[in-house]
Amino acid sequence: MREFRLRFALPVLAGALWLTMSQAAPAAPAKIAAPLKIYISVDMEGVAGVVTGDQLIPGGFEYERFRRFMTDEAVAAVRGAQAAGATEVVVSDSHGNGESLLIELFPKDVRIVRSWPRHGEMMAGLDSSFAAALFVGYHASTTNPKGVRAHTISSAHFTRVGLNGAAVTEAELNAAYAGALGVPVVFISGDDAAINEVTGRLGNMESVVTKKSLGFHSAETLTPAVSCEKIYQGALSAVSHRDQRKPYVVSTPVTLDISFKSYTSAEIVSYLHSVERTDAHSIRFVGHDMAEVMDFIVFLDYYSPEMAP
Ligand SMILES: [Zn+2]
Repeated sequence: MREFRLRFALPVLAGALWLTMSQAAPAAPAKIAAPLKIYISVDMEGVAGVVTGDQLIPGGFEYERFRRFMTDEAVAAVRGAQAAGATEVVVSDSHGNGESLLIELFPKDVRIVRSWPRHGEMMAGLDSSFAAALFVGYHASTTNPKGVRAHTISSAHFTRVGLNGAAVTEAELNAAYAGALGVPVVFISGDDAAINEVTGRLGNMESVVTKKSLGFHSAETLTPAVSCEKIYQGALSAVSHRDQRKPYVVSTPVTLDISFKSYTSAEIVSYLHSVERTDAHSIRFVGHDMAEVMDFIVFLDYYSPEMAP
C-alpha cells in the first residue's frame, strides 16, 4: 500500500512542481547556433603536385586529374571550416577560366562562385557579413624569383603589380580587398615560396606548405591525400582561432601600379584620363578604395588578352 501511494504520489508531485516551475520560468527555446560565414578563395598553382601547364590548363594531359585534386583541397578546407562551426561557406573558383572546381563534389550547403568577369575577382561574393577568409592553392608573386608558376593576376601580361608602392601577391591584394570589408584572412596553402612571401607581408597565420618549390616548373610535393589532411586540420584551427587575426587594411586612396610585358598595353591603357603612364611599360591608377582598384584590375585582366603584344 505504501509503495502504491508513493508510486501514485510522486508523479503527481512532480507534475505539480513542473507546473509551478513552468509558470515561474518558461522553458528556454532550443539553442540556435549563431551564423558563422566563411569565404574560401581557391587557386590552382599552389595545389599539391601542380608544376606546369600540363596540370593547369584545360586540355593539358593531367588537367582533369588535377582539377579533382584542386577540388579535394577545397573540400578539405570547407570541411575544416564546418568542423570549426561554419554555418555558411562560399567558395570561389579563382583559377584560369573560373570553371575548374567539380561542384558536385562539395557538401550540399556550400555555394560556389564561378567564371569571369566579376566584381571582387578572386573574392567575388565576399561582404562584411563574413567572419574570415581562407586561401587555398595560392602561389608566389610575379616579382618573386622563387615559386612554382609565380605570377600576379596575369602571367601572360603583368610583370609587376604594386599596391601603395609595394609589389604584392594575389594573396595580399585579396587580403586588402577583404580587409576593407572588415574580414581577416586566417589561412593559406601553397608552395613554400608563396607561404614565405605572403606571411612576410601579412603576418603569421595558419598555413600549409603543399610543396617545396625547386623552380618555376618543378617542386618536391606532398601527395594529394596528405595535403588534404593538413588543409583540413589547418582550416579547422584557423577558423577556430579566427579572433587572433585582424583584417589587413591598406590606406586610402589606394595607388595601383601595373607593369606590362607589352609596351603598347601601357601606351593604350594610359589613354584613359584616370591613368598615368609612369614608364615605358608601366601605368598608375589611384582608386578611392580597394573595391574601385579591384574593378580596375578586372577591367585590365579581362581585356589584356586582346591587347597588342
Ligand atoms: Zn593565381
